Amino acid sequence: MLRPLALVLFAAAPGWGGGPLAVVTTSTDLKALVETVGGNRVQVESLAPPLHDPHLVEVRPGQLAKLKDAALLVRIGLDHEPWLARVLRSVKDPRFSLGSAHYLDTSKTIQLLQAETPRVRGERDVPHHGFGNTHYWLDPENARPITEEILKALARLAPADRPHFETNRKHFIEQLDTRLARWLQAMAPYRGTRVVVVHESWPYFAQRFGLAVVAAVESTPGVPPSASYLASLTQKMREAGVKLLIAEPYSNASVVSQVEARSGARAVTLLPSVAGDPEARDYLSLFELNIKRLTEALAATR
Ligand SMILES: [Zn+2]
Repeated sequence: MLRPLALVLFAAAPGWGGGPLAVVTTSTDLKALVETVGGNRVQVESLAPPLHDPHLVEVRPGQLAKLKDAALLVRIGLDHEPWLARVLRSVKDPRFSLGSAHYLDTSKTIQLLQAETPRVRGERDVPHHGFGNTHYWLDPENARPITEEILKALARLAPADRPHFETNRKHFIEQLDTRLARWLQAMAPYRGTRVVVVHESWPYFAQRFGLAVVAAVESTPGVPPSASYLASLTQKMREAGVKLLIAEPYSNASVVSQVEARSGARAVTLLPSVAGDPEARDYLSLFELNIKRLTEALAATR
């Protein structure tokens, strides 16, 4: 029974002619993780660029063509990519829907944070994070379930390559374990440090590395802060002695400098996605760079 099923799956995957499996992802982080597991058996395209608000993406016509030819679509899920609904409506391909072997939503095996936050649940018209926080790839521990799901999805489409995928993933997990131990050690002196973030991209990262996120500049994810909220936030930061503000490369620079000036905190720009900097060329080097920037900024605030 296995062989006919495998043949059907091969036949149903356009672009699969014995060459690399064509995969489209909604982020450069998922692209990096698919490449880690797939190695030279995959050709991956990310719909979102690395230095851009992941919730607001304009997909180009050339990328739509790549999606039409792809054997697999891998996404973050929930309400992280509201722009993907429009893309899928235009591609009109039933293969890219829940339950299909050509569609992988990596949020399904993740323990979500902020899923029961009354603040989010109670508010109407929450543009993002309405079902829980979607920035889960920023806890390196979550790379374990994500790569496991990627391995299963790739092996379903290319069963003969399963041993190759398994070897790649095993090698990645070994490196992850070694580096994670080092990152935790580097962050240990700063455990419990209170920080403010611009967008709530960092709860998973903060939980893993022992930071306490006490407030966000965007009081509602994706909505710019009002002047009165900013005034009250910066006053509270000053009173509480919050010394660090975590920003993204695409954060509003004028808001960031206003918060810095009024609160006395120092801003550090962390990279939320792979390839946003030449030093963050893959998933592990993304964390390498962020831990370096963060420990330098934390040391300077002491
Ligand atoms: Zn977000």
